[in-house]
Amino acid sequence: MTTTGPVAAVDVRSGLAAVRRDIAEACAEAGRTPSSVTLVAASKTVPPEVLDVAIAAGQLVYGENRVQEAKAKWPGLRDRHPDVELHLIGPLQGNKVRDAVALFDAIHSLDRPALAAALARQCAAQGRQPRLLVQVNTGAEPQKAGVLPDAVDAFLDTCREEHGLAVSGLMCIPPADEPPEPHFALLADLAARNGLAVLSMGMSSDHTTAIRAGATHVRVGSAIFGARPRGPVPPTEDTA
Ligand SMILES: *Cc1c(COP(=O)(O)O)cnc(C)c1O
Repeated sequence: MTTTGPVAAVDVRSGLAAVRRDIAEACAEAGRTPSSVTLVAASKTVPPEVLDVAIAAGQLVYGENRVQEAKAKWPGLRDRHPDVELHLIGPLQGNKVRDAVALFDAIHSLDRPALAAALARQCAAQGRQPRLLVQVNTGAEPQKAGVLPDAVDAFLDTCREEHGLAVSGLMCIPPADEPPEPHFALLADLAARNGLAVLSMGMSSDHTTAIRAGATHVRVGSAIFGARPRGPVPPTEDTA
């Protein structure tokens, strides 16, 4: 991204303002208070100088997809802005768990027993306790990470009982070519029946729909920062 001058700063501020308006409207329609929804700004590929602008505009919660990119970008930003909260929203590879536990305040992509075991070990070793969300593959898409809906209850038991992990909620990314409502409703049902309060669902195209379905965290990137540069999709990091 090379458009980091004053124009980009104006764009980011107006993008943020527009998303905040959308969230406030959706909350009003759903009879919810705006403070019940956390905007997680999805900042993959967004350079630090643009993030400085967003932080100055009061956006304090960010989601990154890749541990490596976050590790390169955020320590410097956080020195300047210690009140920023950082979430991992992309898949987590086994050999990145140590870095992830050190860096992130929340991890949305817990999706397999080996990862639960590794997270439990690192949390104990580092004395850190990032909030954990289990990613659910609501559309049972073969190429997508996440626990299958039928396996969620058992996986949550494994996390709690075998690994002593406190799970706060669930996350999903609905199939790109389907209406998201049934997927959001399924995630909300799974969370409710397991007594989980946090629901991470909804992106730029469907965050207001997600709020009406009960989202507590919406992960919004392009509606704030503009379209991401085209290029090869980053490799997924989903092998333990
Ligand atoms: C990039 C990303 C988002 C945000 O997507 P936009 O469509 O740009 O809002 C949300 N969640 C995850 C997991 C992402 O990778």
